[in-house]
Amino acid sequence: YENFLQSYIDESTAVTFQDVNDLNDKIRPVIKHLVTENFFRIFRLNLFKECPFWKGDGFCMHRSCAVDTIDDWEKLPDIWQPEALGKLEDSVLVKKLNADAEYSSKDYCDLDGFIHDTVFVDLVANPERFTGYGGDQSWQIWKSIYNENCFNLGHDQCVEKNFFYKIVSGMHASISTHLSNEYLDTTAMDYKPSLVQFMMRVGNYPDRMANLYLNYIVVLKALIKLETFGIFDDLTFCEDLNFVEKENEFKTRFKELLDPALEFSECQNECLFDENILFKEKNSASVKDEIKQNFKNITRIMDCVHCDRCRLWGKLQTTGYGTALKVLFELTDKESFQLDLSKIELIALVNTFDRLSKSIESINNFKAKYDEAIRKE
Ligand code: FAD
Repeated sequence: YENFLQSYIDESTAVTFQDVNDLNDKIRPVIKHLVTENFFRIFRLNLFKECPFWKGDGFCMHRSCAVDTIDDWEKLPDIWQPEALGKLEDSVLVKKLNADAEYSSKDYCDLDGFIHDTVFVDLVANPERFTGYGGDQSWQIWKSIYNENCFNLGHDQCVEKNFFYKIVSGMHASISTHLSNEYLDTTAMDYKPSLVQFMMRVGNYPDRMANLYLNYIVVLKALIKLETFGIFDDLTFCEDLNFVEKENEFKTRFKELLDPALEFSECQNECLFDENILFKEKNSASVKDEIKQNFKNITRIMDCVHCDRCRLWGKLQTTGYGTALKVLFELTDKESFQLDLSKIELIALVNTFDRLSKSIESINNFKAKYDEAIRKE
């Protein structure tokens, strides 16, 4: 295991598993706190959108599959009040939707599900955990994600397509880690970590673990890029002038979050993850378009998930990864960031990073449990 920790996560990075563990120890308290702030904890989505790929054949009846929505507008923070929405949200999203009709859209996500017939959800009150969703229904979703959208892993294919597969597999591993970490203990009727579930789903598969760690540095690199372009400095988190103090606090928190990564090594963020090694060959433009379309399809497949709680977190995380890919591969100057990044994408990106950070923390807790179990044997 020590050798594993010292090995590089992927050929695209000079970072080891141990480096990420150390980095995450510093980052974890900051991101954990950030996602409890009103701006990041309220998510808006359409939970009733029909599956565009096959006829709906049921839904999850477990109570744990349900999502509690916020029905009282007054309980929503200022940024989501109707007058603020008009200013901040819709201009970017509506523009995006129009642009989406064109072939050249920069988006890797289908953002349509964030405009019409939406509900508001408090993410903290609806944690990602074991729901009991499974069997043929979830199998069909994962199968169509891998079979139809992840190209042909293991066969002769370009590095970009392998990278795409790894992102999806890392997301799957992270979801599996969360549901194992908050698994329903039917004796105590409480949610507790289950080492058995974790080993079955992730722990026994070094490749799945590596893909999850890769996702961590990819999403972190996207956040660093936003910071480098001064996007967090320009963000208006709150419309009300009384909240200027809060806004400054957020900006300080983003610095606290990203400084450890920037200081991480002498070669700085080029070592963390170098996105420039991808899409540099002759046929790159068409490969990129294909990947963009396939990732968009994955965000649409989320509308086929029968369990609302899983759909919520699936939609949030696919949007978060799609946003990270867009930031890394499409946005090259400050203007494009300002014109092409909506509030919902930023919220999804930050929460997706929190999911990955929590997964890394859980993996290390599971490792400690595993070591203890071995010692006792
Ligand atoms: P699955 O996890 O369904 O995996 C299916 C197959 O995919 C495996 O047999 C294996 O061959 C392959 N596979 C598994 N992991 C990986 C990986 N990391 N990389 C590559 N291949 C892999 N359940 C919850 O309890 N809570 C949730 O919040 C939740 N969210 C979900 C979100 C989405 C979008 C989906 C599609 C499902 C979600 N589920 C959730 C269900 C959960 O992911 C599993 O599908 C379910 O627990 C059944 O697990 P399983 O053991 O059959 O294997």
